[in-house]
Amino acid sequence: MGDVTEVTGMVLSSMNVCEYDRRIVLLTKERGLISAFAKGARKPNSPLTGVTRAFVFGKFQLYEGRSSYTVKQANIQEYFENVICDLDNVYYGCYFAELAEYYAREGIDCGDMINLLYVALKALSKASIPKRLVRFVYEIRLVSINGECPDFFTCQGCQKEKIKFCAFSETMHGLYCNDCVEYAVNPVYLSESTVYALQYIITAPIERLYTFTLSDQCLEELGRVASGVIQGAVDKEMKSAQMLL
Ligand SMILES: [Zn+2]
Repeated sequence: MGDVTEVTGMVLSSMNVCEYDRRIVLLTKERGLISAFAKGARKPNSPLTGVTRAFVFGKFQLYEGRSSYTVKQANIQEYFENVICDLDNVYYGCYFAELAEYYAREGIDCGDMINLLYVALKALSKASIPKRLVRFVYEIRLVSINGECPDFFTCQGCQKEKIKFCAFSETMHGLYCNDCVEYAVNPVYLSESTVYALQYIITAPIERLYTFTLSDQCLEELGRVASGVIQGAVDKEMKSAQMLL
């Protein structure tokens, strides 16, 4: 069966194959994005049934073959039950997983993406946090982790930093101050709180990302920026996005 290797990670998706097996896509700290077969995972009483479904997080022992991995066993630390028991949360979770899969590759360090996915799923399971806020924060930080986020700290007109910004332009890939906003292409006007939220989303430690709230108006503005950021960075339609509210 090959050598056994242990990885820490999360199942992004799980697909039934053959009569009793599953094929899972795993986002791992050690190996990046990999896929693995779970033989017999759909047989009654298989120990692999519960540990090979989407969103479980933990340590996976894998047989390493020449061209594929096979799951030996797993020690799950988090099942995200509050996500999978709510259909809306499942849709959001699938969308987050699809975006992570878009960016992840085998052999690259995916530690930050795993942490981000983890805190976003945790946030989804808290009724006090609006799901749209969870989504917008996830989108912007994910694009930032992958080095494609617009500049939220410099005016794209006068190039000054640490000033008051009033608008965002995806076309120009950044923010504008009051003096320069007339040069912005398709500006989205932003409240001060929204600008602060954008800067926080880029710089906060990942585990502290979901500790703020926004007014409805600011959430709307944040959503327009997040949508622009995603459209500017991701050149593929996310199938699961159609299911979101
Ligand atoms: Zn300016």
